[in-house]
Amino acid sequence: MALTDTEELTQPTVAPRSVTVLGATGSVGCNTVDLLNRNRDRFRVTALTANTNVTLLAEQARLLEPDAAIIGDPTKLDDLRDALQGSAVEAMAGEAAIIEAASRPADIVVAAIVGAAGLRPTLAASRQGSIVAIANKECLVCAGDLVTAEVERSGTTLLPVDSEHNAIFQVFETGNASEVDRLILTASGGPFRSWSREEMAVATPAQAVAHPNWDMGRKISVDSATLMNKGLELIEAAYLFPVPAEKIEVLVHPQSVIHSMVAYVDGSVLAQLGTPDMRTPIAYTLSWPERMAAPAKRLDLAEIGQLSFEKPDLERFPALGLARAALNRGNGSPAVLNAANEVAVASFLADQLGFLDIAAVVEETLGRVTTQSITSFEAFEQLDAEARRIAQTLVKSRF
Ligand code: NDP
Repeated sequence: MALTDTEELTQPTVAPRSVTVLGATGSVGCNTVDLLNRNRDRFRVTALTANTNVTLLAEQARLLEPDAAIIGDPTKLDDLRDALQGSAVEAMAGEAAIIEAASRPADIVVAAIVGAAGLRPTLAASRQGSIVAIANKECLVCAGDLVTAEVERSGTTLLPVDSEHNAIFQVFETGNASEVDRLILTASGGPFRSWSREEMAVATPAQAVAHPNWDMGRKISVDSATLMNKGLELIEAAYLFPVPAEKIEVLVHPQSVIHSMVAYVDGSVLAQLGTPDMRTPIAYTLSWPERMAAPAKRLDLAEIGQLSFEKPDLERFPALGLARAALNRGNGSPAVLNAANEVAVASFLADQLGFLDIAAVVEETLGRVTTQSITSFEAFEQLDAEARRIAQTLVKSRF
């Protein structure tokens, strides 16, 4: 993976960069669209995709005038065509059309679909040989070997959008991994950081998605509340950076000002700081290796006054421990963890599962599924389907 290969991109950008946004209507997608709209002279949009939200997709397409707008749900193609009538934007629909859009030549593909549903489009984007700005962490968690193999084969550059990994990328100043002592992923601790297990047992979806610092999609917000998000990020970091898993630590930092750190063997610790606004890391990936202006509120440390830190509590938040164990076990375990978590979170959001049951369902699924290494997309699909089937059964037995 060419995370540090800046050679070809060090010349000032003359022509606008072409950008495709997969998952344009989501939280990361909307932040990306906002940046693209503020910088019309720097970017030309190739394609925008969504799953069901025709209204927002059409609005974004009218604003940014991409070559194509693609809706995942094929039954919504007529609605999209109607909404785009009179514009030059081509309307398309279905998973195959999203994959085709991801494969179109573009300087940057922003992979911001949520969940394992983003894997095929992200793999398609990774075959292109340009830049993939990856937000869709579940892809790396469930099939990191497949994604990194495609990236290496095609010479694609993978840039992390996730704020923690983007922070590490910004301060990962060595091509020599042996100079790195530790990666320190910071975690806000989520909305239930100080809640007891008894309180969490009756937590509602509305409480779980009310993140104290970040405004994000519902799935990742629940993952932040269970700390599974940090577990997924641990696995993501292990794929993105040439640092062994035991050298990747998690540190709770409730203010979300330090977005992550790299500790070096000489005792230096480099950190990236900023207000919690995804437009900063997204802007870094869109303009890399240069920087461009982003409208995030400026950091005022005197106003904040104090930064605090604590160790994660694995008793109250077992999901983090489950993710680390899955990473250590390998052999498809992270894919099982991810599939079970997606099923459990969707069930919790649908009021069919308690908050504490999310980690319990993941743990039990991991215990029941026979894992296998993921050497092909078909092997992934098989394991993913089996894990989802078992997780669904477990959810039903608890409902
Ligand atoms: P959202 O739920 O807000 O948005 C998801 C996007 O994916 C939407 O555009 C949605 O379309 C589309 N989508 C959903 N399901 C499918 C599908 N089956 N096929 C095609 N498209 C689909 O998610 P977020 O923006 O919060 O997160 C996106 C990814 O980025 C996740 O992997 C998350 O972990 C990661 N991330 C998010 C951060 C954030 O701040 N939100 C921060 C760091 C990482 P539609 O709107 O039509 O449903």
